[in-house]
Amino acid sequence: MAKVVHVVKDCIGCGACAAISPEFWEMNGDKSHLKGNRMEGEKQVIEVKDEKSVKANKEAANSCPVPCIFVED
Ligand code: SF4
Repeated sequence: MAKVVHVVKDCIGCGACAAISPEFWEMNGDKSHLKGNRMEGEKQVIEVKDEKSVKANKEAANSCPVPCIFVED
């Protein structure tokens, strides 16, 4: 299982995460949105269990130029 964290305030809205991993990420105005998240303070958080979902979010994190996506194993 891995925890996926999006630090929303740092997002520059480039759209890379939504392009690479649309199953989990979408654009919402000038920020991206982590689908199905719960808020932890100013961060959007989900837990993913299967390897495919972990990989998809690691690819999103690697695509983020800030970075403001973190995948914690
Ligand atoms: S890749 Fe990073 S900066 Fe770009 S929209 Fe996604 S979270 Fe925001």
